[in-house]
Amino acid sequence: MAADTHHGGYWNRILRVNLSDGSHLVEELDDDFMRTYLGGRSLGLFYLLKETAPHIDPLSPDNLLVLANGAITGAPGPAIPRFTAVAKSPLTGGLAASEAGGFWGPELKFTGYDALIVEGKSEKPVYLWITDTSVEIKPADSIWGKGAKPAQEAIREEVGEKRARVLSIGQAGENLVRYANLGNDLGHFNGRNGLGAVMGSKNLKAVAVKGSKKVPLVEPDTVKKIAKEFAQTFKDNPIGNSLFEYGTTIGVNAMMAGGALPTNNWDRGILEGGENLFCNKYNEEILIDRKGCFACPIRCKRVVEVTEGDITVDSDYGGPEYETLAALGSNVGVNDLVAVAKANELSNHFGMDSISLGMAISLAIKCYEEEILTAKDTGGMELSFGDSDMLLKLIEMTAYRQGIGDLLAEGQALMAKKIGKGSEKYTITIKGQEVPMHDIRTKTGVGLGYVVSDIGADHLVAPHDSFFTVEDTWSFDEARKLGITKVVDAFELSEQKAKNFVIISRYARMLDIIGGCFFGFAPRGPMPVNTMLDMIRAITGWDVTIDELLEAGDRGIVLSRIYNFREGFSKEDDRLPDKYTENMVEGPFEGTLAIDADEFYRYRDYYYRHMGWNAETAYPTDKHISELGLEEFK
Ligand code: SF4
Repeated sequence: MAADTHHGGYWNRILRVNLSDGSHLVEELDDDFMRTYLGGRSLGLFYLLKETAPHIDPLSPDNLLVLANGAITGAPGPAIPRFTAVAKSPLTGGLAASEAGGFWGPELKFTGYDALIVEGKSEKPVYLWITDTSVEIKPADSIWGKGAKPAQEAIREEVGEKRARVLSIGQAGENLVRYANLGNDLGHFNGRNGLGAVMGSKNLKAVAVKGSKKVPLVEPDTVKKIAKEFAQTFKDNPIGNSLFEYGTTIGVNAMMAGGALPTNNWDRGILEGGENLFCNKYNEEILIDRKGCFACPIRCKRVVEVTEGDITVDSDYGGPEYETLAALGSNVGVNDLVAVAKANELSNHFGMDSISLGMAISLAIKCYEEEILTAKDTGGMELSFGDSDMLLKLIEMTAYRQGIGDLLAEGQALMAKKIGKGSEKYTITIKGQEVPMHDIRTKTGVGLGYVVSDIGADHLVAPHDSFFTVEDTWSFDEARKLGITKVVDAFELSEQKAKNFVIISRYARMLDIIGGCFFGFAPRGPMPVNTMLDMIRAITGWDVTIDELLEAGDRGIVLSRIYNFREGFSKEDDRLPDKYTENMVEGPFEGTLAIDADEFYRYRDYYYRHMGWNAETAYPTDKHISELGLEEFK
């Protein structure tokens, strides 16, 4: 591809901070690099592969923490606010990579940097304060020990900038909870894989940023026009309207109707009283506002508040989305909406991934029910599904690693190793990470994503099956533009389905790395593919095609596979959890839908082949690695 001499969207500059010796420096990137890698996760992986030795301890100073914007993050277009946090994961031992929206990524861009690489470890707690003109490492002794909101307030006060954007860890990150997260603006998270523990292991409490530089645009008028038209029309699209109206909370209604709402550590698919968590109830009873991310009119994020009664909920921490309603609701048997909203607030305050947290708690309850754990292990606490007081207590104990919380802080896979006594059969993890709240028996495309994902089970590898099941729908017409020509059933395990998945997962990875939001773009979101292309071209000045973008997504996937295999992963780790080889237990699919493992693995092998990988080894062929220009990582 040709290097463009005029470009927009990014600065070609990376800031590196070494916490061991307190130094920092700026590194230049060339245009070819940005156009090839697109930033985000791919940029992070490039540095992780180059600069970390294999098999390092993820919680040692040898790990890098890369906070990388996409090439177009922070441009004033809809749904492009995202950055990726990348490191080696203390939860899985493989790649940690997690995207977050909000305002922090754009604000970092406004300081004139595309990415920040944090190296080493500070002797004492510190935070970073980055502006257009300065980079300071400041003591954080008085902030260490605080939750997200007080930490953010204290930092803003100290730097004298009310509008500073703060990316921080809570107590969970400080205490190295293996699924601690990074949060910005109290409501946007690099949630999965334990990136908060990596930041905590470096004695880094937060990174505060404030910039004043506008992201350069090659065709500013076109970007403005696209943004204006999108803001006026996105609600005409049913997907856009539903995102605004309900965010992802409508998932509770849909999953329960299908008997597929993870309930009581996945023993059931329907929660008694689960209607309390339905999206319409949620809107009526606790929703007070909606919020969104930088320059995005969709405003799909929830804001909830409870001011009366035994439990109050602080609106500054946003509100639970589908994953949290299920993980800290149905999955632990809790059908009290206010309690789940409180659990969400606490999880955000202490800084933990709500999916892994809910799954760790549900495993402990299950083990208690089975008398594998007893009151002796819990310090006298009774554990039972549906007990919301217990839930709120356990969240706090986990963040501080107090009592049984020390065990919960390890996540399901390590918990089962420590507990023993057959507890492993109650875990549902892939590559050491707890599965999200989607039952893959009812959507086998998501299942393929869970299994082949290099960050462990992940529901955001590609848009879900329902967008590709019916001809002549808006979503499927959009999918055609990516090269998908045939609809496939939600339950099938066919070569055609694997082929479609190859395309759609490359597309989703491309959106991740360029700074795009999973929910913004067709076929999952309301912005049409061609408008997205026009927007990328107008921001960057690149004459990109969809094929070039899909190739960049492919490069991102291949880089993560190279990294994970370097760390000792193999085809064996692309494993289907046993739970899904059992029939559904209730609802319309009761007694059916058990996945045949052999059939599933044949389907997975089709995926490898269509990815240009060797199906025997699940690893990209030399030829494919060369085609992507990644020879140096062979
Ligand atoms: S769609 Fe929602 S999550 Fe995505 S950028 Fe817009 S407001 Fe943020």
